[in-house]
Amino acid sequence: MKSEKIYINGTWVRPVAAQPIDVISPSDGQVFARIADAGGEDIDQAVKAARASLSGEWGRMAPVERGRLLYKLSELINRDADDLADLEARDTGKPMSQARADIAACARYFEFYAGAADKIHGETIPYQVEYFVTVIREPRGVTGHIIPWNYPAQMFGRTLAPALATGNAAVLKPAEEACLSCLKLTELADEAGFPAGVLNVVTGYGATAGATLAEHPDLDFISFTGSPEVGTMVQIASAKHHRACVLELGGKSPQIIFSDADFATALPIVVAGIVQNGGQTCSAGSRVLIQQDIFEAFTAELRNRINALVVGAHEKDLNCGPLISAKQKGRVQEFITQAEVEGVRCMAQAQLDPAAPNDGHYVRPALYGPVPEDSALAQKEVFGPVLAAIPFKDEADAIRIANDTEFGLIAGVWTNDGARQMRVAKALRCGQVFINNYGAGGGVELPFGGVKHSGHGREKGLAAMHEFTVTKTVVLKHD
Ligand code: NAD
Repeated sequence: MKSEKIYINGTWVRPVAAQPIDVISPSDGQVFARIADAGGEDIDQAVKAARASLSGEWGRMAPVERGRLLYKLSELINRDADDLADLEARDTGKPMSQARADIAACARYFEFYAGAADKIHGETIPYQVEYFVTVIREPRGVTGHIIPWNYPAQMFGRTLAPALATGNAAVLKPAEEACLSCLKLTELADEAGFPAGVLNVVTGYGATAGATLAEHPDLDFISFTGSPEVGTMVQIASAKHHRACVLELGGKSPQIIFSDADFATALPIVVAGIVQNGGQTCSAGSRVLIQQDIFEAFTAELRNRINALVVGAHEKDLNCGPLISAKQKGRVQEFITQAEVEGVRCMAQAQLDPAAPNDGHYVRPALYGPVPEDSALAQKEVFGPVLAAIPFKDEADAIRIANDTEFGLIAGVWTNDGARQMRVAKALRCGQVFINNYGAGGGVELPFGGVKHSGHGREKGLAAMHEFTVTKTVVLKHD
């Protein structure tokens, strides 16, 4: 694999300057690969190549042909799924079965948007009789994409497939902590036959390569997924150039368990919602809000399940893998220490596999509760496998607590009362509500994104194709 190179204008090249970046395996803390550290000049070349491609073959290509290229890429991803999953698990530390699911999801993104490429229509508007008005949808132009390390392959598909399906030319800056699958996917895109310059992939640090891309004057749009702090910087940079952006940021998503909930269905899904990918998921269900009269009974069941989990190296495919880095592990441990200083009780903790390598970044999934509503564990995004249990009195109290954080990404509502399902779904301030299930990870068809500090704009579904296009109103006057 061309891991020490960047992909510009259809060619793998070495960056102009700088030493490569070591890639560390989260499972054992050892360096196992190196990636290129691109600088400003490389980013500039990538943007220029993307711009040039828009006036070449790509700009003239019929949507159905763009769709065929995306479909070809989807097939190649499925062909190489095992290799991609191995790479993803090793690079991110996630258990093998989760990495396999991520690769399948990545292929599905390209499949879905392949089919949609020729189905984004404009409209006609009845105006005065002597006029004919059409509104057409055009690509934004050159789109920048900055993605995080938690789901590199899924993010590659989520952000690039709709952008390419709608005819944009893209520059992707994946995360320095984990991006090997993105490089392998880029090789597959090359094999699929996208014209040179349509996709450019430039690895490097956020503060240098990422910031240069975000601030580049010749971008038309930027799609950013990552922390609220960096999202703010990306939005400021976009504002300087008066260009739009979509921001997919963090979350503190609630799972709301009413007294009449079906425990047997809810329990495994609540556990999976915080343990998947070690809790390093923007849509992790990191708060479980439980109605007071079932608090003891529900947490007793949760305790049994969390105590029985095992965390260990990715290749053992246990319930949970290591966190991405020593830094992330330290950050999560600070939250745990602070909770304990505040006197919040640890109600349950998973086991560490005795064979887990000493230098891996392991944190045992844990349940804390009852967590005070104003504490850090109830308010801040931990981005680790720490579940905060919070009791509530009644429906109004549940809605108040659920909405009382700076975030608004997704929510789970567990009740068999149909009217309550709809009342609560309407009252929650977030981008997705799941009733008697919880699964933002699946469903490319479902528009996804946040409100408040979770960001703005929508990815996934046909909504993403609207983000990556802009309308033009054409007004014709006839006799
Ligand atoms: P991060 O914001 O530090 O990094 C994300 C990306 O931004 C990386 O590619 C990084 O290199 C780049 N970057 C860093 N500094 C930059 C700068 N100054 N200018 C431009 N780019 C820069 O986030 P992270 O720590 O990698 O990821 C964790 C965060 O991402 C969490 O808060 C999580 O909730 C969020 N996240 C959100 C979603 C979502 O879909 N809403 C998905 C995954 C992660």
